[in-house]
Amino acid sequence: MSAVEYAFFRILRLFRRLPANPLSVGNKKVIFLEYFKGFDKVEAVQGIFGAKTTEVLSHLKVELSWLMGYMYVDGSDGHLVISKGYLNNGNRTDIYLDLIHELCHVKQFMEGKELFDPKYEYVDRPTEIAAYRYAVREARRLGLSEERIRCYLRTEWMDDEAFLRLAKSVNVAVPTLHYKP
Ligand SMILES: [Zn+2]
Repeated sequence: MSAVEYAFFRILRLFRRLPANPLSVGNKKVIFLEYFKGFDKVEAVQGIFGAKTTEVLSHLKVELSWLMGYMYVDGSDGHLVISKGYLNNGNRTDIYLDLIHELCHVKQFMEGKELFDPKYEYVDRPTEIAAYRYAVREARRLGLSEERIRCYLRTEWMDDEAFLRLAKSVNVAVPTLHYKP
């Protein structure tokens, strides 16, 4: 999940045509496995990349961005961009689930899937639904309550209708109480 993914999608598309992305100036690049040590041993991550987990994560570049937001996969070369502010101040569980979500996108990118297909709205995009489903599965395995999972799914840029569609797609029940028409 990422607000940046949504809000900067069009801007990033424009910048991609330039030789250097001005939004990347001053950003530090690190290797995923050196930064998130031990992630290749996480079962949920191994479930995404299988036998190639360590290999993929030791090549995956992470750009630590000064931009506000959460995290997203850069559609030009499949590297991960993470907001430094989010890493420093975000909720640890949310960050972990977001990493699982984004690693699903890394895999999708490796498979040649279009991550930002403009034919779909964010919550209807098949690549998003697959990544959210996988993150929800991991959230349940961790023992998070359904309420906490709904809280994780609900982001500030989703309206009620979009949130309900996403919740339904990933099999998270929403009590009527939650829905304010
Ligand atoms: Zn996503």
